Amino acid sequence: MNARSRALGVLDSRAGDLIALGDLIWGFAETGFMETRSASALASFLEAEGFALERGVAGIASAFVASYGSGSPVIALLGEYDALPGLSQEKARYAKQEAVPGAPGHGCGHNLLGVGSLGAALAVKEALSALGLPGTVRYYGCPGEERGSGKTFMVRAGAFADVDLAFTWHPGEINTVLQARSLANLSVYFRFLGKASHAASAPFLGRSALDAVELMNVGANFLREHIIPEARLHYAISDPGGRAPNVVQDRAEVHYFCRAPRVSQAREIYERLLDVARGAALMTGTVLEPRFSEGLSDYLPNRALGELLQACLEESGRPAFSDADRELAARFRQTLTKAELGSALAQLRLGRGAEAARRLELDPLDEGISPLFPGEAMLPGSTDVGDVSQVVPTGQVITACTAFGTVPHSWQFTAQAASSIGHAGMLAAAKVLALASVDALSDPLLVERARAEHRERTGGAYECPIPPEINPEREYGSGVDAVT
Ligand SMILES: [Zn+2]
Repeated sequence: MNARSRALGVLDSRAGDLIALGDLIWGFAETGFMETRSASALASFLEAEGFALERGVAGIASAFVASYGSGSPVIALLGEYDALPGLSQEKARYAKQEAVPGAPGHGCGHNLLGVGSLGAALAVKEALSALGLPGTVRYYGCPGEERGSGKTFMVRAGAFADVDLAFTWHPGEINTVLQARSLANLSVYFRFLGKASHAASAPFLGRSALDAVELMNVGANFLREHIIPEARLHYAISDPGGRAPNVVQDRAEVHYFCRAPRVSQAREIYERLLDVARGAALMTGTVLEPRFSEGLSDYLPNRALGELLQACLEESGRPAFSDADRELAARFRQTLTKAELGSALAQLRLGRGAEAARRLELDPLDEGISPLFPGEAMLPGSTDVGDVSQVVPTGQVITACTAFGTVPHSWQFTAQAASSIGHAGMLAAAKVLALASVDALSDPLLVERARAEHRERTGGAYECPIPPEINPEREYGSGVDAVT
């Protein structure tokens, strides 16, 4: 039996263990940087399989690296396992019903993501001994994707310094290789300090920090017209400064995201936004305290790895859905709005043509595969896989883990992330990543092609979007916010 079929054999024989592990993490549903039980379950599983463990990577308790083998090439498989606040939902139930009221839930399917990549690592370990070639497979346990930019901190700490290639995947509604860029993102809090006073009897003695927040937002609204159209500037008032209208607010805070296709563009917009904030402080007689929170780079796809993943996806990436899965998916499909389905169909039409869109108007599950996108699409969101892709050639695949049209970060996604639909998508992704890794291990030219392409595009330059004084420990707990 050759190395590739041994790898696939592992995934067939261990499917039950992997599904159980995915469901266990789904049940933990821990949010970014708090995923200690999830990380420990994944790390212990790999340790028991003979992987060497390094815990607490980059100073983050729930980050780890598990390695097997020796020498190069070094192949990284990225896993995530953080959940989203407020998205608790009963397993496989096609009506909105929280499993634990107010609790987090796996509305982005990162329980599947973490275990799918782990399955691939397990399969590659088996293939390595069959190949009899040097090579290392590493599973990267990456915390805080939804909030906290875990991978950015891991990249900054040098955790990927000797890696040749990285592969990852994401649960989705279709089967496709991700040949798209994402937006860089900088997250900054603007805190204003004023002076409290009685708002009726002595307003002239007060200086309102809330006024400063409002003026800053007005300024930002005008700024928005004069930044590049691909950029996105959005905010939330993270501290309105109190609830009493009769007290002049002596403190208030607004939280901004500056997104743009490149980190340098996001930085430039941030500098201009900082001027707006300074102006607001000047106008209101308040003091500005900006606090950089986190940041991440844009995702750089790699065509050589995209082509490799496409071939592996076409070989074994179609999830093996049963009739029961199709029935369940049809139930979830009924919970989607017309707009949700319409938007999914419009996107599919672009990527796969009218015929495929017509089919998925009727079929609840994607059982086809998108052709490799000829250029590079632009995703309006952001991901910390971006930072890995800036330092290591990275390939990423998406497999159908939900009914077609299911929106990420929704109760429907949480429900399906622990259903037989999600399980099938996870096992398919594990096979694709395993095959691509085995091919890379046995073909030095392929590795070199991907690396040469990466060198040419980046020039070997990487500047971390997070300033050196920001450290991940500070990010634990309630001060962390979503950036993806
Ligand atoms: Zn996600």
